[in-house]
Amino acid sequence: MIDIRNLRKRFGAQEVLKGVSFTAQTGDVVSLIGASGSGKSTLLRCMNMLEVPDSGQVLIAGEEVALKTNRHGQTVLADPPQVDRMRTRLGMVFQSFNLWPHMTVLENLIEVPIRVLRQPRGEAIALAEALLAKVGMAEKRHSYPAFLSGGQQQRVAIARALATRPSVMLFDEPTSALDPELVGEVLKVIRDLAQDGCTMVLVTHEMAFARDVSSKVMFLHQGCIEEAGTARQVFENPGSERCRQFVNAQF
Ligand code: ADP
Ligand code: MG
Repeated sequence: MIDIRNLRKRFGAQEVLKGVSFTAQTGDVVSLIGASGSGKSTLLRCMNMLEVPDSGQVLIAGEEVALKTNRHGQTVLADPPQVDRMRTRLGMVFQSFNLWPHMTVLENLIEVPIRVLRQPRGEAIALAEALLAKVGMAEKRHSYPAFLSGGQQQRVAIARALATRPSVMLFDEPTSALDPELVGEVLKVIRDLAQDGCTMVLVTHEMAFARDVSSKVMFLHQGCIEEAGTARQVFENPGSERCRQFVNAQF
């Protein structure tokens, strides 16, 4: 489902991804852990081309994102409409919830399905209502985001990402901006998705959660995957001393 090959990305003089490769099968839950600044967000952003990698390949469900080199020697998208299409197959959830403030919860969910995917309105609303029920937000469908707690907004953001029926969900520290008492309700939604077989890549500092839900854990250090394996291997018996120290400091 996900095949990342030798991704490199630099910002100015700083090489942030130094040749990252990994694969994930349908239903895999891949957790990405590592210190702040190690390149976790950049890796997720390169997967959906919010950042264009300098080199390497991104394949989602067997389809490779087409890149080319322009006359200035920069790597750019070769086929922007292809990327628009692929982005609807990658649901992205950020630390900051990013709901559209001038739209109700329901309108947030149906906007892209109707305007971009050209789904019939009735169909989009039916799916949106089912997704809101799934994340426990059906009763708030006519509320505006400002009237919701952070945990509720993030649950809506997850439902919105699911509304395009993505094949892969990408989560970038989805609970880091939440008050501690609201973290659990969001983790529960993500856990339910994992149990439903949703393929996902999750950046998180919630180590106990990552240990429970992940089929694969990757420890990123200075732009390289320094350790990768099952949750058990990475958390209990890492080969890398740096990974061991990082993990021990988190628990
Ligand atoms: P993480 O998510 O692991 O904290 P990031 O991927 O956000 O790490 O960042 C990795 C490094 O790349 C950091 O040093 C950060 O300052 C730098 N960086 C990230 N995005 C940009 C950008 N758009 N421009 C310049 N530097 C960036
Ligand atoms: Mg980050």
